[in-house]
Amino acid sequence: MPKRVLVIEDNEQNMYLTTFILENKGYEVLQAWDGRQGIEAAVSAVPDLILLDIQLPEMDGYAVAGNLKADPRLAEVPIVAVTSYAMAGDRERILASGCTGYIEKPINPATFLAQLEQYMQTPPTGER
Ligand code: MN
Repeated sequence: MPKRVLVIEDNEQNMYLTTFILENKGYEVLQAWDGRQGIEAAVSAVPDLILLDIQLPEMDGYAVAGNLKADPRLAEVPIVAVTSYAMAGDRERILASGCTGYIEKPINPATFLAQLEQYMQTPPTGER
């Protein structure tokens, strides 16, 4: 079974890029375009990792992370925030909201997977 990554992202280009990188490496990607969709997908699929954009319409990433972490079914699922803010305090806020870590935008395709995999326990089985 390939590892499943849920990508919660409202930007089409970022969604395309992260999906491409992950699928190319053998991950199964689930896409959600806003927070509510993301929470629903997380609860029903229980992915191996959640990649969470912080800037989302309506419900922002902090709120989404809080909701996800409040669900005991998702207690073991790492949440990696993706943020373009480089301001002081964001890291603390991201971690306080329940995220395991964060990756800064713009995503660097050369280092993205290594960054992401450090938050997962084992590499994907469907590697190609
Ligand atoms: Mn966004």
